[in-house]
Amino acid sequence: MRPLVAGNWKMHGLKGQLAEIRAIAASARTAPADVDILICPPSTLVDRAVQAADGQLAIGGQDCRAEESGAFTGDISARMLVDDGATAVILGHSERRKYYAETDAQVAAKARAATLAGLMAIICIGESEAERSSGDALAFCARQIVEGVPKDMTGATCAVSYEPLWAVGAQTAARPEDIVEMHGHIRKTLVQHLGEAGASVRILYGGSVNADNAAQILALPEVNGVLVGRESLAFSKFEAIIDAAAAVHSPRETHHAKS
Ligand code: PEP
Repeated sequence: MRPLVAGNWKMHGLKGQLAEIRAIAASARTAPADVDILICPPSTLVDRAVQAADGQLAIGGQDCRAEESGAFTGDISARMLVDDGATAVILGHSERRKYYAETDAQVAAKARAATLAGLMAIICIGESEAERSSGDALAFCARQIVEGVPKDMTGATCAVSYEPLWAVGAQTAARPEDIVEMHGHIRKTLVQHLGEAGASVRILYGGSVNADNAAQILALPEVNGVLVGRESLAFSKFEAIIDAAAAVHSPRETHHAKS
């Protein structure tokens, strides 16, 4: 499976930050890696980010509303993102669930809207520290998939990003053995839930991924990419993660060889 390295800029970035996207695009042009690259900037930058990306990487949104249009002040629809040139959207991020009380049912409705509009939905799931310490993590994440991933999704229309809440914006990522256990469980749940299509859905890991731990995480079974917050804001750090994905995916080829 071709890995996906996705960056979530959250509420960071004015137009000056587009230089980072130009730098990623320039690097991808001169040394193409066998990796799908996606940056999700604030919605104010999507249109200009698409221009800056110059076809070398994909640009996505960080959320969309389930409705196509209407009296929903401050919100944006999937079609609006597509209109700006986005090809993907992050849905159900833990910060949306925390600050806007988003439910799995809402995430599923947004995913349907995203698919209808032609966007790939990156559906985030993940347990809290309390759920992990009470031994409920696997069941909790399985439930988020069953309730938040519509049954007609495929690997072409969605990816699932496992982001344990306690590892997002933290000092350290989840332990490799916990990632392996959870990603195996997510794969099993996806196949039960979606049938054969569940085998083709990319499962990303997110939570304190950086240049130092990316190669180890990306080499774990059933890790088909990463969703990166802080370390996606600067080209040099994000590029190291892209390089790690390329090296793990095609170790014999010298992708992104710097001259
Ligand atoms: C995220 O925002 O999805 C995330 C994983 O953040 P960070 O990489 O900063 O932990």
